[in-house]
Amino acid sequence: MTKYANNANNLTCAEFQAQLPELIGSGEEITEHPHLQDCELCRALLADLETIAEAARQLFPTVEPPDKLWEQIESAIKQEEGATDQG
Ligand SMILES: [Zn+2]
Repeated sequence: MTKYANNANNLTCAEFQAQLPELIGSGEEITEHPHLQDCELCRALLADLETIAEAARQLFPTVEPPDKLWEQIESAIKQEEGATDQG
């Protein structure tokens, strides 16, 4: 019965990279991941990803909730109701 242990230590680069989005999403300190201790390639990849993520944050700053938009839509609907009533 030979089966690769599902250890972080035994991950291939492809397996590690497949988990990257989850790892990043989990908010954990990825740089402490065992695979990165041994793998310079994936450390470089992660550094690239962080650069891209940082650039993306600057390109798409957080959009504020459109409260004003809803107010405008609501008042527009009310005005329209009032207008058709006049008919
Ligand atoms: Zn790797």
